[in-house]
Amino acid sequence: MKKVIVVGGGAAGMMAALSAARGKAETILIEKNEKLGKKIYITGKGRCNVTNDCDPDTFFRNVVTNPKFLYSAYYGYDSASVIGLIEQNGCQLKTERGGRVFPVSDHSSDIIRCFSDMLKKAGVDVRLNTKVTDLLIKNNKCYGVRVKTNNKHEDIKADSVILATGGLSYESTGATGDGIRWAKYYGHDIKTCRPALVPFETKEEWVRELQGLSLKNISLDMYDEKKKIYSGFGEMMFTHFGVTGPLVLTASSYFASYIAKKPDRANNIKLILDLKNALTHEQLDKRIIRDFEKYNNKQFKNSLNDLLPSSMIPVIVRLSGIDPEKAVNLVTREERQGLINILKGMELNVLKTRDFNEAIITQGGISVKNINPSTMESKLIKNLYFCGEMIDVDALTGGFNLQIAWSSGHLAGESTSESVN
Ligand SMILES: Cc1cc2nc3c(=O)[nH]c(=O)nc-3n(C[C@H](O)[C@H](O)[C@H](O)COP(=O)(O)OP(=O)(O)OC[C@H]3O[C@@H](n4cnc5c(N)ncnc54)[C@H](O)[C@@H]3O)c2cc1C
Repeated sequence: MKKVIVVGGGAAGMMAALSAARGKAETILIEKNEKLGKKIYITGKGRCNVTNDCDPDTFFRNVVTNPKFLYSAYYGYDSASVIGLIEQNGCQLKTERGGRVFPVSDHSSDIIRCFSDMLKKAGVDVRLNTKVTDLLIKNNKCYGVRVKTNNKHEDIKADSVILATGGLSYESTGATGDGIRWAKYYGHDIKTCRPALVPFETKEEWVRELQGLSLKNISLDMYDEKKKIYSGFGEMMFTHFGVTGPLVLTASSYFASYIAKKPDRANNIKLILDLKNALTHEQLDKRIIRDFEKYNNKQFKNSLNDLLPSSMIPVIVRLSGIDPEKAVNLVTREERQGLINILKGMELNVLKTRDFNEAIITQGGISVKNINPSTMESKLIKNLYFCGEMIDVDALTGGFNLQIAWSSGHLAGESTSESVN
């Protein structure tokens, strides 16, 4: 019987261990935390958006970095496979808007429990509170790991080692980049790790005044001078440092991949918000004229209540440069055009993204060029496999990142087990 060690008890590691054990390998799953799936616990705001019930095209469209690398992994184990596995093992799922799949209970802990039970049934030897400190490698072959438990070191030998130690985001869950560091030490190319699906800090300090304001049906374009990097539509929120929300998080993934190619452009990225996306310039002008007629006897600062949320009015009034006390019937056509330009083209300059502790995903990691996409085995070190967030693949929100972990974990586990070899 083959012996397989899986390092990391997150989504990728649990799935890898399960498929190795189901393929008849003697499997050890090593996790440094006191429990499995600490990150899964906080996913989907505690509800765990476990996958996306979509066709393959939609899945690959939502993978931002290296989608082609995932063809074998995904076609071998797609979202329907994950849904089937979880439901057949006692956790009912439901599909919400945009194909997002959650446990019916809305509790991520049910997903973790479901996997823990499956691992137990499959006979996986789960070792918690055990930290892997190094890999055992000789002549470019991996033959085990060195672990530390209760201050004691031990070498554990195996036929194959699967690394599933995650990326760098939300370090408190155990994602400290250990596997990425080992991979680098043993000669793998590492693509610079950057926070993605993360809020932006902006140069404009007035955003603070709008802290907590959430806006729907906004369009956001991201530019490096005249080059458009991203264009999207949806919901966003102002914070004390900048902007966040689904639309902004998506933009941040495209920001990170753009900056990976052009690091010197990081300080030149602008976000342009269209706050009145449903109206053309002319329609908005007519709308404002109507409002100004309605508030004919008021000052400009008191004429925007029908158009904007109240917390936004002082900021927009200031940005427009129009005297707030000016009688609204004296506002000139030119001033009105300036106001429209702000509403349909509000400019925010990106200072930087927030750091890994606020990033849903790590962009970058072990280069896909060093990994065999049909097995997840390292091309440099035999019997060493990678899966999950530590690889240079990442996707948008919607359950796609967990699906990457499930698919790549399944392929790695299957490749190490006797059923394949
Ligand atoms: C707040 C938040 C919300 C999210 N929500 C969603 C969502 O709803 N849907 C979705 O698809 N994705 C979501 N994601 C992304 C998703 O959680 C990750 O992509 C996925 O969990 C990565 O799985 P992984 O197994 O590769 O890594 P991880 O889950 O990070 O697991 C790595 C494990 O390895 C262990 N480990 C590390 N080093 C060692 C070592 N030396 N020895 C032993 N063990 C070690 C760690 O303790 C950890 O348990 C979210 C992420 C965050 C941060």
